[in-house]
Parts: sequence; C-alpha cells; structure tokens
Amino acid sequence: MRHELRYETVVAGGLLVTGPGVLRGYLGINDGRIAAISEDPLKGDDVVDARDRTVLPGAVDLHVHFNEPGRTDWEGWGPGSRAAAAGGVTTVVEMPLNCLPPVTTVEALQTKVAAAEGQSMVDYALWGGLITDNREHLASLAAAGVIGFKAFMSHSSTEEFTHVEDGVLFDGLQRLRDLDQFLAVHAESNAITQDRMRRLQADGRRDRMAWGEARPPVAELEAIHRALFLAQQAGCRLHIVHMSLPEG
Ligand SMILES: [Zn+2]
Repeated sequence: MRHELRYETVVAGGLLVTGPGVLRGYLGINDGRIAAISEDPLKGDDVVDARDRTVLPGAVDLHVHFNEPGRTDWEGWGPGSRAAAAGGVTTVVEMPLNCLPPVTTVEALQTKVAAAEGQSMVDYALWGGLITDNREHLASLAAAGVIGFKAFMSHSSTEEFTHVEDGVLFDGLQRLRDLDQFLAVHAESNAITQDRMRRLQADGRRDRMAWGEARPPVAELEAIHRALFLAQQAGCRLHIVHMSLPEG
C-alpha cells in the first residue's frame, strides 16, 4: 500500500496545483522527486506544513538577463538565480546579450556555461544570438543545445550585440527554419528610432523622456509587421520579446 510508505519529505495539506487539476492533499518526495500525490495523509521524515498554502510547480522563466560573464555587476548568476528561486522559478533561460562575449559562437556558449556552473541555484538553459556576422555559427550553436535564438532589429544598446537589418534577418530566419529552431526578435525600427534619436540629440535633449520620444509606437508596430512577414515568408517560427503595445 502506497500510503504506508514513509517519504523523505512530505508537503502536507496544501492546495496542490497539478496538471490534471487542483486538489487539497499531500506530496511525498524521495530523492528530490515527487513520488506520491495523495488526498490522504502521507508519512514523512520531514513534514512541511502547507495548510493555507498553494503548492505550485516550479515556474520556467524564458527571459532573464544575468549579464555574466562580462557585466556581472549588473546582476550575475548568483544573485539572479537566487532571486528566481525565491520567486518560485526553478528554471531560467538566459539571454545571449549583455554578457561578454555575447553568446554568438559555441566558444562563447561554453564560457557562459562555465560562469553558470556552480553558481546557479536553479536549472538553466541558454539562448543563442543572431547578429550581423555570425550566421555560420547558428548550426553549431543549435547543436550545442541553445533552446532558441534572439536578434535585435534596432540598436541593442550594447556595441557587440549588433542589430540585424532585413537581409541578415531573412537569411537567419531561413537558416533557423532549416535547423527547426525559432527566432525571438526585439522588434523596433532602427531607421525610425535612430532618426528620432539624432534629431532629439541635435535639440540638446538628454533627459529620460527623450528616450521614449525616440521610440514612437509606429517604430514597434512597423518592425513587428515586418518580422511577421519575413518569418512567414521564411517559414520560421517567431517570438516577439519586449512588446510594449496592446496593438502589437
Ligand atoms: Zn530582454
């Protein structure tokens, strides 16, 4: 009888959110894995009282920027993954830019893995980058295990993670389709944002509001439409990140 077993840890009396549904009950855990889910009490060496608590599966955060190696002072794997764990996130997927080098080659991917190993409190996976001059690295990055690729259609705010114009974007989408991969894009028109920025700078604007004025809604909508069109033509799956407009 399963209920006569004793588990290493029992999470007792919580509202358990499971795939099939929600129930009030008990989790039996052995070797760090859920071994039993029961509405009847379970016995355990270590019992966690979860009455008045909701017990959720670990969340997966597909979009984190820990910026290590290279810009660890912005956050880093240690503090970033601890914050994730504190918030119930058990897997993070870390973005390919802001770190140095950016994850645009397998060598850079290995550097990132070395930085994460031993520091990350949670499971992790990594994004690869599509930039101006790394298309020949997409296949090896995919083979090395990145879960998807990220590109910027406008200046990324870091010099090394170059944004892609339509030629590279379309060719990248075709290559990623052939690799059964998908592309996440930061969709803003570089032409519109750069033109606005130049004019604001010429007017001597350095204030925070100028940042927003350089990025009118049309810049985002135009880029989203263009990315969707190119992805459809290429037959590649697309994900749009950092969206800020309901119309998007
Ligand atoms: Zn981001």
